[in-house]
Amino acid sequence: MEECIFCKIASGEIPSSKVYEDEHWFAFKDISPCAPVHILVIPKKHIRDIFELTPEKEGMMSDFFSTVRHIAMQEGLQEKGFRLVVNTGAAAGQTVFHFHAHIIGGRELGWPPFSE
Ligand code: 5GP
Ligand code: ZN
Repeated sequence: MEECIFCKIASGEIPSSKVYEDEHWFAFKDISPCAPVHILVIPKKHIRDIFELTPEKEGMMSDFFSTVRHIAMQEGLQEKGFRLVVNTGAAAGQTVFHFHAHIIGGRELGWPPFSE
């Protein structure tokens, strides 16, 4: 996926503020944070969205929540909590079509999260 900005971030071709990396996952600070902590967690392999997470690809997802928990603890979010968001599809607000989870925290977060 040559033109995918998150593939380029995961490979280091485009710089980012990295907060975590392992064999399958890469996490970095959102360029336009909506809270004091706003981190994006992406698979190193290009996967467009949840619908592309076919059963063959689900193996790599097995450590997803461990990875999120590790990053949340590293960022000091354990006590006050955080929100985990995966926008899926343009109508839901997905603008980068490489699967990513937002870890958002460090302030009070309203619910419901949508404006319309
Ligand atoms: P989405 O709206 O697709 O769920 O979220 C995409 C997120 O990626 C947005 O919050 C946006 O600020 C962030 N983003 C887009 N381009 C870049 C970039 O080049 N670097 C970083 N660090 N974040 C980006
Ligand atoms: Zn990609």
